[in-house]
Amino acid sequence: MRQLATAEIIAVGSELLTPHRTDTNSLYLTAQLNELGIDVRTKCVVGDNLADLVGMFKLALTRADVVLLTGGLGPTADDVTRDGIAAALNLHLHESAEIVGAIQARFASRGLQMPDINRRQAHVPEGARVLPNANGTAPGLWIDAGEQVVVLLPGPPRELQPIFETHVRPGLASRTGSRQLRRRILKITGRPESGVEQIAQPLYGPMADWPVPVETTILAAPGQIELHLSARGDDAAKIDRVLDEAVTRLASALGDIVFSADGRSLPEVVGQLLLEQGARVAVAESCTGGLVLGRLTDVPGSSSWVIGGVTAYSNDVKIHQLGVAAAMIAEFGAVSEPVARAMADGVRERLAADVSVSVTGIAGPAGGTVEKPVGTVVIATSGPRSLLRTFRFPGDRAMVRTQATQAALDMLRRTLIGA
Ligand code: ATP
Ligand code: MG
Repeated sequence: MRQLATAEIIAVGSELLTPHRTDTNSLYLTAQLNELGIDVRTKCVVGDNLADLVGMFKLALTRADVVLLTGGLGPTADDVTRDGIAAALNLHLHESAEIVGAIQARFASRGLQMPDINRRQAHVPEGARVLPNANGTAPGLWIDAGEQVVVLLPGPPRELQPIFETHVRPGLASRTGSRQLRRRILKITGRPESGVEQIAQPLYGPMADWPVPVETTILAAPGQIELHLSARGDDAAKIDRVLDEAVTRLASALGDIVFSADGRSLPEVVGQLLLEQGARVAVAESCTGGLVLGRLTDVPGSSSWVIGGVTAYSNDVKIHQLGVAAAMIAEFGAVSEPVARAMADGVRERLAADVSVSVTGIAGPAGGTVEKPVGTVVIATSGPRSLLRTFRFPGDRAMVRTQATQAALDMLRRTLIGA
């Protein structure tokens, strides 16, 4: 049988053609397929329209080994994926008593009766394999179309992902041969993209010509740069060794601006350090309004290392909840190094934390002055070590707040590692 090397993804749903919904399933599927060594050659979005869907699907079949479709498996008349694919492949649909039973049981478990329209979700093209959906009513479907593979998955990510992992990945993996693609991601903060590129490019450039070539792409977002390294081959252990070598070289050249080489986010890294040190953190935020605490508490298990925080947006809160002297604010301004220092010390003391971070700044668009333009942000940490720094972040209000949040988390990290 043909080895599966290329894929095409078709996301179905008229809502995905509006500005209100984004097709994220294809990003997830692309990552999964790449791990299996399958290249995604094309992807597209089609509305809930049978003719459009059939047209795109037939085109996909002319060029891809695997065609994955997501969405449009619901019970309503605008869900056309099942019918469209069956028609395009000339397959009869039959109703599966087993699926009807599973859907009925799902409704019954919530004390409901299955509406008759849900029977459509039990329609199975002849020869298709049913992929049970533990988190919803519409099962996925695997269809062998000659040597090609067609997979239909429900749209909601929390339904699609478990089905892919449990049923689709093993099926594809058994037909991709031994060729695979592996990746590493270096995450960096505290340096602009050009600064990272200047250090990294002379190292990763030549890696493209290594016996096992390493491909590198650099991705920039506000407050974070990522270097994505990938290599392909038949021998997983060998590819891993090559990637490890590449990561080691880049990480040692870049130094402590690299905060993770294992996929962890900045708050996860901070949390791990706090956990290892048996320390707990408190946060005092002005211009970030709770974003720093929000990122920290995004991490599962953060209750063992986060105490809490004070959103000290007004001077009143800075004075009365954090103990910042009113005279200090009058003399230096709310966005100043002495005030940031007093906020960090104040929240650490009042919440009995081992370490703390404070953020005060001007996110804009109003409030800037000549000495303190929009984007001026002062961040302090307090603890066994204390750091204090004034930043000038570029961009609009959202960008300033994102960068300030990231910088606050990074200063916490530096406080904890002593960098
Ligand atoms: P259901 O049985 O839940 O109706 P379905 O297969 O018909 O499943 P859709 O109705 O197309 O799925 O989509 C349901 C929801 O899933 C959408 O409102 C959207 O939130 C999400 N969704 C659908 N497609 C995508 C996609 N490509 N990326 C991210 N989310 C998606
Ligand atoms: Mg739909």
